[in-house]
Amino acid sequence: MTLFDNSQLAGYSGKKVLVTGGAGFVGSHLVDRLLALGATVDVLDDLSTGTAKNLPAGVNRLIERDVASPEPLSDYAFLFHLACPASPPRYQADPVATFRTAVFGTVRMLDEAKRTGARLLIASTSEVYGDPLEHPQKESYWGHVNPVGIRSCYDEGKRAAETVATDYRRMYGIDLRIVRIFNTYGPRMDPFDGRVVSNFVRQALVGEPLTLYGDGSQSRSFCYVSDLVEGILRLGALPDGPGREFPVNLGNPDEFTISELASVVEEVMKKPLERVLRPLPSDDPRRRRPDISRARDLLGWKPAIPLREGVALTVDDFKGRPGDLASDSLPGSAPRRGDPHRWEVR
Ligand code: UDP
Repeated sequence: MTLFDNSQLAGYSGKKVLVTGGAGFVGSHLVDRLLALGATVDVLDDLSTGTAKNLPAGVNRLIERDVASPEPLSDYAFLFHLACPASPPRYQADPVATFRTAVFGTVRMLDEAKRTGARLLIASTSEVYGDPLEHPQKESYWGHVNPVGIRSCYDEGKRAAETVATDYRRMYGIDLRIVRIFNTYGPRMDPFDGRVVSNFVRQALVGEPLTLYGDGSQSRSFCYVSDLVEGILRLGALPDGPGREFPVNLGNPDEFTISELASVVEEVMKKPLERVLRPLPSDDPRRRRPDISRARDLLGWKPAIPLREGVALTVDDFKGRPGDLASDSLPGSAPRRGDPHRWEVR
């Protein structure tokens, strides 16, 4: 039974909302929608992978700090907790920091939800399923995750975040939502974050060959960012009730191999694109596709934007930011982003 109806989105109007990671790719789109719905939005972000350029003028305040910082926060009605590096090269660049952010950052937000009674939605990930043995992945699947591999800082960090969040719900009755986000893409992606869509689109535009890892036969299911944000807002708008803390998959169930994705980019670019094969990074999941029955039943949600259309919109966005395509602008001495082969290859 669908518990959501559109009028519930009006519940954000006039409310004070905190978005952690609001200067990032997904977070900034969420901020846009919350502002359009009439919320007063503060963003907490350390700008390690996000950028203040992503923030719309209507943001009330940017709190520039580590999400795990114990410094006090004001009271909010809603906490959307998205802060964490999320692309494999970025989260692997400092795996200890990634794990700390995933776990301690979430505990910090849980304490805030407990202190204030705010509704807390945490961004988890399809990575909790690891290299899945069940396909497609339902929320009830416990996953197949290597605890000591190069992806573990993120996978296990997010799994631990889900664990501690659910225990806060059991012990303190906090108002909790968990979304498991599958591969998402769209405008405002960082062209150097090393993900496959941003890599292919940037490579296509600057005339570099598309880098296919392995033989390109592994699959992913790519969700356009506005579809994802709609699902997040709907889940956040539902009144609390029994089982509301149970994780909800949000993603597009249309599955593509990485070679098929390369062909979609080629069709959108309307010209042949060269490909090069690169070694497959270790623990790279073979297949991934969400079962979205729960989101459909609970929220009446399903993605609306097909891959071709979403890639075309992403190409247009990247074209409009030629400066961002020229060089990796993130500061710091982290290993070169966009090239996971610097760390470990199977
Ligand atoms: N990938 C690729 N070429 C690239 C970047 C990634 O073939 O330039 C592959 C990667 O090995 C993985 C898939 O594309 O199988 C998705 O990678 P991404 O980093 O976007 O996200 P993941 O789902 O692995 O977290």
